[in-house]
Amino acid sequence: MAKLDDLPLRPDLRGQKPYGAPQLNVPVQLNVNENTFGIPEVVALDIVQELASEVIHLNRYPDREFLNLRGQFAEYLGGGLGPSQLWAANGSNEILTQIFQAFGGPSTSAISFGPTYSMYPNIARITLTPYAEVPREADFGLTAGYVSEQIRKINPGIVLLCNPNNPTGTSIDSEVVLAAYEAFDGILVVDEAYAEFSDQESAISLLPGRERLVVSRTMSKAFAFAGTRVGYLAGDAAFVDALRIVRLPYHLSALTQAAARAALRHSARMLENVEQIKVQRNRIAAGVTTMGLMAYDSQANFVLVEGFSDPAATFEALLERGVIIRNVGIANSLRITAGTEAETSKLLGELSLVLE
Ligand code: PMP
Repeated sequence: MAKLDDLPLRPDLRGQKPYGAPQLNVPVQLNVNENTFGIPEVVALDIVQELASEVIHLNRYPDREFLNLRGQFAEYLGGGLGPSQLWAANGSNEILTQIFQAFGGPSTSAISFGPTYSMYPNIARITLTPYAEVPREADFGLTAGYVSEQIRKINPGIVLLCNPNNPTGTSIDSEVVLAAYEAFDGILVVDEAYAEFSDQESAISLLPGRERLVVSRTMSKAFAFAGTRVGYLAGDAAFVDALRIVRLPYHLSALTQAAARAALRHSARMLENVEQIKVQRNRIAAGVTTMGLMAYDSQANFVLVEGFSDPAATFEALLERGVIIRNVGIANSLRITAGTEAETSKLLGELSLVLE
């Protein structure tokens, strides 16, 4: 077998490693911000039925436009949106990639405010888009004045605002989104992967009349549907038309569409554990504070915790005790996903023992 270095790989990809957190079979998995509750049984049965009715037709390609599913997303989001303003793909990672394929590329650039979602630079690289991460302000927050000043200075083609932000959990007001929008004439992407866990207003209500603003969402987190791979986007119908140019034909399989349609029919049920997850998130924040650590304010389903003298050692010690969390590479910090009450108890118990 040849080595990767022996192949004429694109120069900008040389030395790169495949992206991804470790996938380990550990009893308590709090490392990739999944919803750790299972799918409610009534919904699971309905999903199976919907899948079953598709299987017999799998000789045919799926519906390329999937307007039914897009209509269901529109209904879920509200705000007067229609199917033509919605789009879906295999996870919001694919949504973001399609945005970069359509609006990025070597002749423009993209920025985000970091630390933020670590896939953004990868998506920029894959699509040959120059990318920069502008540092966040104090406590990983962002203000309207700072954001608009930075965007004006750099004048990028794409701005990514992750709200609530992964991995810090911090959130921004609508005022910051509006200031960002006014500061340039490119594409403003608000990545709301964790919106259902947040008490802040969604940028969905800001969409009317702003054709360069788009909101990216996912079923991977609050909807407990990470394994299905469904992300979606709301924006102007013209924006969606741009994504339709770059998407591969039949990118969303008939089975994925069927599973998402069935799950969305039960959206309230699928989201029934969101409040409980917020309770556990707040419990983690309070618990680590009593251990002499500091939790950043989080509106997501995870907490960034600071104050570890050796985060890598704490990560390993927890792993040995059956709990996996995430070392996101921020000094003295680790990120912890909120799980079930039992998982959170196990995490807090083991962490306090490890720190002793
Ligand atoms: N955006 C953010 C901020 C995320 O944290 C993630 C997943 N960790 C994604 C997008 C992508 O999620 P998915 O592809 O599962 O929709």
